[in-house]
Amino acid sequence: MRLIILGAPGSGKGTSAAVLREEYSLAHISTGDIFRANIKEGTPLGLEAKGYIDKGALVPDSLTVSMVEDRLSQDDCEKGYILDGFPRTIAQAQALDEMLDARGEQIDAVVLIKIEDEVIKARVFGRRVCEKCGASYNVDYKPTKVEGICDTCGGNVVQRADDNPETVQERLKTYYNNTQPLIDFYDKKGIIIEGDNNIDSKICIKEIKDGLNAKGLI
Ligand code: AMP
Repeated sequence: MRLIILGAPGSGKGTSAAVLREEYSLAHISTGDIFRANIKEGTPLGLEAKGYIDKGALVPDSLTVSMVEDRLSQDDCEKGYILDGFPRTIAQAQALDEMLDARGEQIDAVVLIKIEDEVIKARVFGRRVCEKCGASYNVDYKPTKVEGICDTCGGNVVQRADDNPETVQERLKTYYNNTQPLIDFYDKKGIIIEGDNNIDSKICIKEIKDGLNAKGLI
């Protein structure tokens, strides 16, 4: 099964993607996580991407598309994957179509997470992530057992540098300008399924599974 997960920054894409990865043995490809790992390691890609990420802007397609292409050719993608944070623009979606055509593959479904901006803002400021494995926590409703330490891998759990009020506002603007048109792009292909994450991630995940089931994917 090959999926894309779409939704505003802080909408809970990562949390839903982690559940789908576990249950259906998918590779979870988060472009944001790959950029953050590169920034931490100080690679040339990380150094170039950091300036854009700190401002809440998109990293140029020239860097992002080839990074995804490399990642899709790794062995763990053979059984299926979930793309999280990519594509973010129509140009990236077209580049992805070309990549998949060349591999004789196609996206089976696009999972769209629905959520109000006000709910996002309230959640994002409490969000904490593990620097090592990317696991997501929230100081208000999903804290780590030991403060600052990941329950899963023991890594350091920190606030993302771009989870501050100004950058979140900018990321939401970027999302509505660039990513929203993707919804029409995939709607025309008839492959969107929705999950409502305004109340609870369990409800959202149930709706996603119902959608996958209705398409005969699970
Ligand atoms: P995320 O973790 O998905 O919220 O991504 C964090 C940041 O990484 C974004 O605000 C962008 O600056 C950058 N980024 C992640 N994915 C992409 C992408 N597909 N295209 C361009 N920039 C991206």
